[in-house]
Amino acid sequence: MILRVYTIAFVVKDSDFHTSYMQSPSHLKFDFYQASLSFFQEELGMARILIVDDAKFMRMTLSNILIKANHTIVGEAENGIEAVDLFVKEKPDLVTMDITMPEKNGLEALKEIKQEYPDAKIIMCSAMGQQKMVVDAIEAGAKDFIVKPFDESRVIEAVKRVLN
Ligand SMILES: [Mg+2]
Repeated sequence: MILRVYTIAFVVKDSDFHTSYMQSPSHLKFDFYQASLSFFQEELGMARILIVDDAKFMRMTLSNILIKANHTIVGEAENGIEAVDLFVKEKPDLVTMDITMPEKNGLEALKEIKQEYPDAKIIMCSAMGQQKMVVDAIEAGAKDFIVKPFDESRVIEAVKRVLN
């Protein structure tokens, strides 16, 4: 596994390769580069994650926890409308979805995403006293939930479980 990771790291990091790759005709670009990258990321258990929460502090907290665990944050949304738009644009491996948000709440956004993308992996972020919403979300296809204030190990554990 280490050898494979090294090989890919070399391929991705090597600047000559990068230059010649970038200069090659676009039809030859194929997804070797992209495939290498995703393979590399998968091998290390990394994921592309979209964070949805109307509170900037919550987004920042989650972002710090997830980046520390080697994940990539592909976007941050502060309401359900932005969440759906960004999901369609980025097709993240995973979404952390707050429940209470203006414009469109997390439950509505979850349902909308799930309708178009049944395989979407979404973890709900709930506050105390939102048990009913959490149950509704799980019934609507959310894979798990994490409770505020966020506990780092609980977040990492939930993300790992949902990704596998
Ligand atoms: Mg909120």
